[in-house]
Amino acid sequence: MKIDLSGTTALVTGSTSGIGHAIAKGLAATGARVIVNGRTQSKVEEVVAALRKAVSGAMIEGVAADVSTAEGCAALVKAVPDVDILINNTGIFEPKEFFDIPDEDWLRFFNVNVMSGIRLSRAYMPGMLKRNWGRIVFIASESAIMIPKEMIHYGMTKTAQLAISRGLAELTRGTAVTVNAVMPGPTMSEGVETFVKDLAKQNGQSVETAAANFIKEHRPSSLIQRFAHVDEIANMVVYVASREASVTNGAALRAEGGLVQTIA
Ligand code: NAD
Repeated sequence: MKIDLSGTTALVTGSTSGIGHAIAKGLAATGARVIVNGRTQSKVEEVVAALRKAVSGAMIEGVAADVSTAEGCAALVKAVPDVDILINNTGIFEPKEFFDIPDEDWLRFFNVNVMSGIRLSRAYMPGMLKRNWGRIVFIASESAIMIPKEMIHYGMTKTAQLAISRGLAELTRGTAVTVNAVMPGPTMSEGVETFVKDLAKQNGQSVETAAANFIKEHRPSSLIQRFAHVDEIANMVVYVASREASVTNGAALRAEGGLVQTIA
């Protein structure tokens, strides 16, 4: 199978680093026109230039917009009125004891991780249905189905994404539009690297030891017993976004190294 997405436009939110960046790169390599998104103009421009260099013939553009706000989403939609592929990737996490999580954090997590995808799907999905082709992919997490006790607010947002993506898939009946969620497990993105570096510093360990210990202690059921690379997650997302993934709809797909121990 050779994935060719030339002729399509893909928007990847939060794609100036981490998993989103790897997805943007992967989609660009398939010939899609890719819109990179982050919050600052300078970072977006820097990433667009780097991706153009890294992927020969890549069609990459960028829009700086904060997708956690209604205004940011509106500005993004104004700049790019139609997309064929929407990857709702933007997301934040922060381990915090339930009793210490204030209302503001619950609302901030909901705005960044959930409302961003709701607003953009509401804006872009009607065009996909009209053109009778499109892909929406929510980047959820295994935390959607195994709520982490150290960040229940994050787990809540990830479960919400599964509910929304399944619900939106119901609206695609009889069309060639699909809406799915991908659930990465622990993945060495920039965000997670910072978290692991902090752990290493706290415990006086090397980053490699801190990473290995984190998996052993906090994700013992992982079958791969390591963090995933961002490209390994991007591969799954590029496939789900492809024309070839035509009968996968309304699914929550696992890319979590086998750490979820249930069969389905
Ligand atoms: P990351 O922190 O490395 O990158 C997130 C990107 O989103 C950054 O480019 C950041 O600038 C951007 N961003 C943040 N807030 C934004 C906003 N309001 N508007 C626009 N851009 C914004 O994160 P990551 O680890 O690559 O995570 C990406 C997604 O994958 C998230 O939804 C996360 O929940 C999910 N995920 C990550 C892991 C993991 O272990 N890394 C595991 C499961 C799920």
